[in-house]
Amino acid sequence: MRKDGAGLRTALKRVRITARGRVQGVGFRPTFCRALTDHGCGGSIRNTPEGVVLEAEGEASVIEDLVRNFRSMAPPRAEVLELDVEEVEPVGESSFKIAESSAEGRSLLPIPPDLATCEECLRELCCPEDRRHRYPFNTCTACGPRFTITRSVPFDRISNSMDEFPPCALCTREYGDSADRRFHAQTISCPRCGPRLSMLNAEGKKLDRPLDRAAEMLKAGKMLAVKGIGGFHLACDATSDEAVGELRRRKKRPYKPLAIMVRGIEECRSICKVNHFQEEVLLSAQSPIVLLKKRSSCGVSEAVAPGLRDLGVMLPYTPLHYLLFRHEDMPLALVMTSCNRAEEPISTTEEAVLNELSDIVDDVLTHDRQIVNRCDDSVVATFGGRLLLVRRSRGYVPEPILMRRSGPPALAVGAMLKNTFAMTSGRRVFLSQHIGDVSDADNAAHFARSFERFSQLLRLDPQVVVCDMHPDYPTTAFARELSDRRGLELLQVQHHHAHIASCLAENGSEGPVIGVSMDGSGYGEDGAVWGGEFLVADLQGYTRRCHLEYVPMAGGEQAVLHTERMALAHLAHALGPDRALSRMEPLMGKECCRLALQVMEKPRFSPLTSSCGRLFDAVSALLGIRKRITYRGQAACELEACCDAEEKGAYDFDYDGESILLEGTFRGICEDLDASRPRQVIAARFHNTVARIILETCVRMRDETGIGEVALSGGVMQNRHLLGLAVPALRARGFEVLLQTAVPPNDGGICLGQAACALARFGSSSRG
Ligand SMILES: [Zn+2]
Ligand SMILES: [Zn+2]
Ligand SMILES: [Zn+2]
Repeated sequence: MRKDGAGLRTALKRVRITARGRVQGVGFRPTFCRALTDHGCGGSIRNTPEGVVLEAEGEASVIEDLVRNFRSMAPPRAEVLELDVEEVEPVGESSFKIAESSAEGRSLLPIPPDLATCEECLRELCCPEDRRHRYPFNTCTACGPRFTITRSVPFDRISNSMDEFPPCALCTREYGDSADRRFHAQTISCPRCGPRLSMLNAEGKKLDRPLDRAAEMLKAGKMLAVKGIGGFHLACDATSDEAVGELRRRKKRPYKPLAIMVRGIEECRSICKVNHFQEEVLLSAQSPIVLLKKRSSCGVSEAVAPGLRDLGVMLPYTPLHYLLFRHEDMPLALVMTSCNRAEEPISTTEEAVLNELSDIVDDVLTHDRQIVNRCDDSVVATFGGRLLLVRRSRGYVPEPILMRRSGPPALAVGAMLKNTFAMTSGRRVFLSQHIGDVSDADNAAHFARSFERFSQLLRLDPQVVVCDMHPDYPTTAFARELSDRRGLELLQVQHHHAHIASCLAENGSEGPVIGVSMDGSGYGEDGAVWGGEFLVADLQGYTRRCHLEYVPMAGGEQAVLHTERMALAHLAHALGPDRALSRMEPLMGKECCRLALQVMEKPRFSPLTSSCGRLFDAVSALLGIRKRITYRGQAACELEACCDAEEKGAYDFDYDGESILLEGTFRGICEDLDASRPRQVIAARFHNTVARIILETCVRMRDETGIGEVALSGGVMQNRHLLGLAVPALRARGFEVLLQTAVPPNDGGICLGQAACALARFGSSSRG
């Protein structure tokens, strides 16, 4: 006790520090407990729904050092977003301890995302002397499942699905030993007390030697369901054409690229071109699927990603994955795609796999740790040394995105395809995991369940609900119903305004900007299908200054599937119906062509569209690359993959008031086709043209408005070839360019834009 001498007492200091951010489930409390004990401090640290609260007292200089170095003292996988420090009266505590968690107060969802296996745990896995040698569920304070096993907050043993596995005496000792690296590890377990691996055949019968059997099955080209962190994967040998072909037949998924898991970073380099930044992302705690340029003759079956230059690659991220790959003669890469039927939610229970997917799956490698929150793998690309998220889910969710403004709690329900939703709490926006196409009933149920779960975890009752303007989106109906039932304020945000707001929000900008929203489709305020939009926008509103010219979508949604109809529409508009017919008849057939032209005359069946995505579809079909799609974005992705990067030529375009006219573009493409120019050249010239349209339209808008900041968003902005042309060109002309990196530019990022608009409308304080 140090409170005896008056001289000493004056040198004592006590502080209360509240840390918010990724501070729970990452070894935060044990790290500080060890450090402060070493420094002879007294006090305590505890989890609260507000974040971690630490009280420490000791010599003034030691406490001042603590406050100064707090962030750098945090464990490697923690991230302190906000820190409140308050000086309080010393009470004469001389020892430091981890105190009981407190569940009171408003939750700020202090649950970390799921974390890939750390190096220490991996070392134990490989060490024959270690008691966790070859243990498929090895975790510690720095790694393991988190969000996907969480039932309630704060993140403790009793609030996650590991509570079914009471720790054995040895584990209990490690848990309580401040010198142990599993001190207060909420997921601590070992082969004696933890979850068990098991292997079931398609009839649900248990088989012995699960890991050996799984490896044998994979080597034999079979389809294996493997229980992971957020759901089941469907796995097969990615190096075997037969196995991949069989998986595609069974899943009825002829072309959509499949993700692969590769044994290690070395093997990854042999399959794909990997730069330093991409390597960092592959090895990160988030461990997402990374889109990488594949090498020629890389050993992976062509059927994994037909017609594309990229492969979606991830590294093992659970001990179970590592153990599978360590098995003798295992292929160096496995297809690891979600175990579901196309577009349905990923399966999370063996019952679902056995009952619903027995025609797809041969055997099931599973375990008895329950998945509480379904969560798909995240998918990312990289652009200019930054992340470009394609799907933000496992590893990133539920980490909040910090806004400049605070406001009343809001629910933003997102769009329809690639749906995610968001809930706000003060300045934080919490995005849900990937939900998918909510026009599917199972996905809609997944949406409703996840919303309930997020409301519970956040302890938030939204006062505002935000949705799209589309009258037929299921999310719009959900928002309206919720607003009516609970008497909530309802805000509708135009789709492309939401895309731009999303980009503004994650860049901490409030605008006004020139918003370039190059997208698939979204409901326009004039009732047309928008998607090639140039807006002047801030978080309060927008004006539409310019857009790609309107053409009819023959048969509405049908024109999305049959891209040849978009080619016909653009040709007919640009060059007249006769030249369109003569060009498209050989590709579509005479009858189809004439019928489509007739349907285009009827506005009821053929809404007008300014969509940039549909323009890419049209060109893809015209070049004979893809005239009918089997997954969203297929025609555009294959057109991008086709580009000759050396080609510098471009086509003409023109302006008529608000409309960008593409007659010159289509005339040029037809001339090039007649001259038998390679389609690689034509595809590249088309990309160059779109980049020039973006640049020239932005220059015109800057001349008119004086605004020099450009925000790029919308699904087309996932096209890295286009970004690689447009972004440097804009910068060279003095524009400040805002890109999306924390959330996807596609509809998976819409909810952030909606949330930001709600905070701008209903929030009060703005921090600079
Ligand atoms: Zn670990
Ligand atoms: Zn144990
Ligand atoms: Zn969109």
